[in-house]
Amino acid sequence: MKSETLRNSNSIFNIAEAEDIKSGRTADVYFENALKTLEEYGFDGSVTMEVTVSGSTYPWILISGIQEVIHLLEGRRVNVEAVPEGTIIEARDIEGVPVPVMTITGKYRDFAIFETAILGFICQSTGISTYSSMVRVAAGDLPFFSFGIRRMHPAISPMIDRATYIGGADGVSGIMGAEIIGIEPTGTMPHAVSIILGDDNAWKLGLSGNKRPKVALIDTFEDEKFAAVHAARIVKDLDFVRLDTPSSRRGDFSNIVREVRWELDINGFRNVKIMVSGGLDHNSVLKLRKAGAAAFGVGTSIASAKPVDFAMDIVEMDTRSLSKRGKFSGRKKVYRCPKCRNIYVKHNSDSPLICACGTELECLSTSMLVEGKILNIYPNPKDIRDRTLVEIHSRPQRLRLEQEL
Ligand SMILES: [Zn+2]
Repeated sequence: MKSETLRNSNSIFNIAEAEDIKSGRTADVYFENALKTLEEYGFDGSVTMEVTVSGSTYPWILISGIQEVIHLLEGRRVNVEAVPEGTIIEARDIEGVPVPVMTITGKYRDFAIFETAILGFICQSTGISTYSSMVRVAAGDLPFFSFGIRRMHPAISPMIDRATYIGGADGVSGIMGAEIIGIEPTGTMPHAVSIILGDDNAWKLGLSGNKRPKVALIDTFEDEKFAAVHAARIVKDLDFVRLDTPSSRRGDFSNIVREVRWELDINGFRNVKIMVSGGLDHNSVLKLRKAGAAAFGVGTSIASAKPVDFAMDIVEMDTRSLSKRGKFSGRKKVYRCPKCRNIYVKHNSDSPLICACGTELECLSTSMLVEGKILNIYPNPKDIRDRTLVEIHSRPQRLRLEQEL
């Protein structure tokens, strides 16, 4: 990438625009140096590079961020195969071979400059979607919503909402994130409305009309148990009372939820459910679910989820298997047993492919870009989320997470 092709940033914010990323301007400089060296030498060969997990602290990995890589490489003369977004994998297969989530083949000079961006897209999005899927498991069949974009730079809020939704969230608070996903944004009301108008007016005016669900934020002034019953009396057909109690005033949040549930029940408001939010993570979601909470707003823990460490390495040069020490050379595909869900990584030439349990393996590696052309209509976030839910329900890890918590 020659520096004279780069334009100056016009942004008033400290962000890269799409054209900056597409032009390679967000790359680490050593790729620019490498390309200069190879050009001087006269190298113009093809390579295959693999993206594998080099480190993760999660019990499983839910892939996302692939769509942005496809858009990044569209128009470049490269072929891309990847494990589809919304698929659960582990870092290594059943025999200990690293799982390639993406394989890129083409002239090195055509895509080397994008390694930084490719990894950035996949590492952060996969970290968020993976953690979101852990919250999904903790919440069981109850709804949870992404409320975390305020903790992160607004430029990436749609990515955060999309990754959280793909991980299994039932809704997102961001207007633009929801638009990209193709759903209505989810929101209740800020404490500010109760402070300005008083609780009674805030609930009456804010929850008039037929828009559902009706959620009354109840912890602005009063103790939660009195405010919950008060809100249920004032708002006809109230669906939820929401406790957004900050941890500084919380005490034992589970017991507050139990107390509110008890008071609502004995006052005849069994249909009014409890939504909780404020500093929740997958552990507190599970605890509060057991205490009687019926919906969860989860923010910072998902939005700031630790990225999964993916690495990108050459595994083939022209048609010769070659990789650095510590990596497995040769072009490979990822397979999975549809019955026991075991993952196998096989060299392209291997066949036939049967699981240890006797079932024929399905291939997860999917061709997504051929000579820079996008092959199929990319699945929408709702379909990807559906895939995630099927993956979660078919995994024994579901039980493992719940036991560990
Ligand atoms: Zn099997």
